[in-house]
Amino acid sequence: MARIYNFSAGPSALPEEVLSQARDEMLDWQGTGMSVMEMSHRGKHFMAIAEALRQDLRELMAIPDNYKIALMQGGATAQFAFIPQNILRGKKKACYVKTGAWSNKAIKEAGKYCQVQIAASSEDSRYTTIPERDSWNIDPDAAYLHYTSNETIHGVEFSDVPDTGDLPLVVDMSSNILSRPVDVGQFGLIYAGAQKNMGPAGVTVVIIREDLVGHADASVPGVFDYKQQIDNDSMLNTPATYNWYLLGLVLQWLKRQGGVAAIEQQNIRKAEKLYRAIDNSSLYSNPVDPACRSRMNVPFVLADSNLDKEFLALAEKNGLATLKGHRSVGGMRASIYNAMPEAGVDALIEFMAEFERTH
Ligand SMILES: *Cc1c(COP(=O)(O)O)cnc(C)c1O
Repeated sequence: MARIYNFSAGPSALPEEVLSQARDEMLDWQGTGMSVMEMSHRGKHFMAIAEALRQDLRELMAIPDNYKIALMQGGATAQFAFIPQNILRGKKKACYVKTGAWSNKAIKEAGKYCQVQIAASSEDSRYTTIPERDSWNIDPDAAYLHYTSNETIHGVEFSDVPDTGDLPLVVDMSSNILSRPVDVGQFGLIYAGAQKNMGPAGVTVVIIREDLVGHADASVPGVFDYKQQIDNDSMLNTPATYNWYLLGLVLQWLKRQGGVAAIEQQNIRKAEKLYRAIDNSSLYSNPVDPACRSRMNVPFVLADSNLDKEFLALAEKNGLATLKGHRSVGGMRASIYNAMPEAGVDALIEFMAEFERTH
């Protein structure tokens, strides 16, 4: 069996240990004679899996007791709508920070439910910067402020959490959750689709402060209502059980790596060496302001885009897959989430140097 280094932005590479464990437990989970896929979500075996998952997430992120966890479906995209549907609390307006493709999508969707105030935008820089916090135009009477902590497509990441005072802070952490420690207490709501840094697609993690729960409009469907989901341990209907199980395995794996602070050190090392290789070359370049370059998604272009095809084909031959950039920005993108081993980044850097030497 040959595993390649997969730089996909999402669904993305999973830790090999996790996949092996899932394989070993596929037909018979811990002596039950059943696959997790076949279990009742209300049975004691699956309940234990779900409980462990929640405990591990709480432990890894140090989630305070006044925060609830909901595991939902519909991806982060569904949350773009669920958030205004659930936490406007009778207010008419929400503030959004526009830093790339994903915050843009969140803004468009929120516009169906409330007035959106763009508190700041980096569109003028073609999303290669983050506007200075002093320049943000925040309405203190808005229901919340939403931002995207890591723009997966543009490769732009916040290195700290913006201070918005009493205004609840809502963050799309889909592509950098669990990659660095965060103080959950600074947020009103954190959400993330699993398929970037946590597991397979099909489950979305929502971490929400208690006081923001229970404000959904009466017209909001029950499965989209945070309160109903939380009151029912996210089992208002049948959850994506196997995805929860795999998410749980990834969390256990992360604990074995030493947790979020330890994986952050690896992420820093991986990103630094890749950006250094790009900056030191005359063939590759990355347009993002160094102060807000993403540790997770590293977009880069070749000086001569006529070489793109050959670069991708040769990379593939060398076991380096899915490096093509998003169609909206072109070029290349290497996504190097928690599960990408440092050896994968080393192999990429070596390949890039060799390609430059021979072209
Ligand atoms: C991938 C991604 C999304 C969309 O996730 P879906 O699960 O496809 O809905 C939203 N936000 C960010 C930052 C992402 O990376």
